[in-house]
Amino acid sequence: MSKRIEAIRGMNDVLPADIPAWHRLEAVAREAMAVYGYSEIRLPIVEQTALFERSVGEATDIVEKEMYTFTDRGGDSLTLRPEGTASCVRAGISNGLLHNQRQRLWYSGPMFRYERPQKGRYRQFYQIGAEAFGFEGPWLDVELLLLSRRIFNGLGIRNLRLQVNSLGSPETRRRYREALVDYFSSAHEQLDEESQRRLKRNPMRILDSKNPDMAELIAGAPEILSYLDDASAAHFAGLREGLDAAGVEFTVNSRLVRGLDYYTHTVFEWLTDELGSQGAVCAGGRYDGLVEELGGKATPGVGWSMGIERLVALMQSQGSAPDAPPPHAFLIAVGRPAAIEMLKLAEKLRDAVPGLRLSGQAGEGSLKSQLKGADRSDAGVALIIGKDELADGRVAYKPLRSNEEQVLLTSDEVTGRLAALSG
Ligand code: ATP
Ligand code: MG
Repeated sequence: MSKRIEAIRGMNDVLPADIPAWHRLEAVAREAMAVYGYSEIRLPIVEQTALFERSVGEATDIVEKEMYTFTDRGGDSLTLRPEGTASCVRAGISNGLLHNQRQRLWYSGPMFRYERPQKGRYRQFYQIGAEAFGFEGPWLDVELLLLSRRIFNGLGIRNLRLQVNSLGSPETRRRYREALVDYFSSAHEQLDEESQRRLKRNPMRILDSKNPDMAELIAGAPEILSYLDDASAAHFAGLREGLDAAGVEFTVNSRLVRGLDYYTHTVFEWLTDELGSQGAVCAGGRYDGLVEELGGKATPGVGWSMGIERLVALMQSQGSAPDAPPPHAFLIAVGRPAAIEMLKLAEKLRDAVPGLRLSGQAGEGSLKSQLKGADRSDAGVALIIGKDELADGRVAYKPLRSNEEQVLLTSDEVTGRLAALSG
């Protein structure tokens, strides 16, 4: 045997057993997007590297160490997208979708980050994202959170917690950044290596540190909420008021800064305690400066994206993931002429009963082996054509999950029974 070629670490096959849950998630999300007036946009997987450097930010984990970047044959630096917002904004600008209009867009597809693979954290993972342009908020921010909640409810997912925070205006961020630099510089010897590096490049990222030795120091750091200017504070108050009015429970987490540079004002995360340390299932916020930063006319934006693998894992652990439906009938044919007759009958049945699921071994194997297959398939009935049935011009209809007797039927009678079964 030749040596097997393995998949790339952190890049998974989604197997048939999991596909019904993926389909459910995709269907529920698609329906919710339509209900809230979001239009789908399909974006390329590869973009110019500069797009992410400029939007996500050069001093972020994603750009510093997680991007799949390569030089193509023409010498251009390209990157497999690590997230969708930047591409969505780029597409909105290139196609004139954002100019003086309000726009609600959604996308889905694979994202790529060179992270350490572990449960719930992969190098190729899938997101569904929603982005709204041209709205100042905060009511739109609330609406976006309601959209995400509707999707979770539609999936039967329970026990998610919403955390919100405000990063304020760029001026807020600048002043807060200075305060953080002062604070952490005065405790320089307590910073781990990573945080020392972040202190110079991106001090807000220190708050994201998972190092327990840093926890106490971080707990004592200044809070961004005390740096909000009046307009930012009013925006944040509006968000909280809207969430209260809409009956969305949340907590304010003043340490929530998010890993990307482009956020302003609202940031949020939906969290679960049921997936170990990979607890964020949906995250996002407002990015009022991003469209302009990427060469468009200044346009406010806000959005979120959810991690499909983590949501599917939750559906599975909470018991709301659907199973693949079994075939309505398992087809058994013994002998070559019977197999041909069965092919014709099956097509006739599929024409007559939309959505009818028929499966079988395509006449391969003995009657015994085909009956075993029928049993394993979880189909409700077997349709059998052997020598006798063929001579008779009939089909044996054998209920598999009840004590009902097997009967001989004409093909019209079979159609009638299966139509009743699948309806
Ligand atoms: P985390 O804190 O888990 O690293 P993040 O803040 O980097 O998440 P975002 O960039 O906000 O994540 O992406 C939105 C969502 O996509 C996350 O909430 C998560 O559900 C999912 N996600 C992010 N990175 C991964 C990954 N490497 N593998 C699987 N899902 C991911
Ligand atoms: Mg991350």
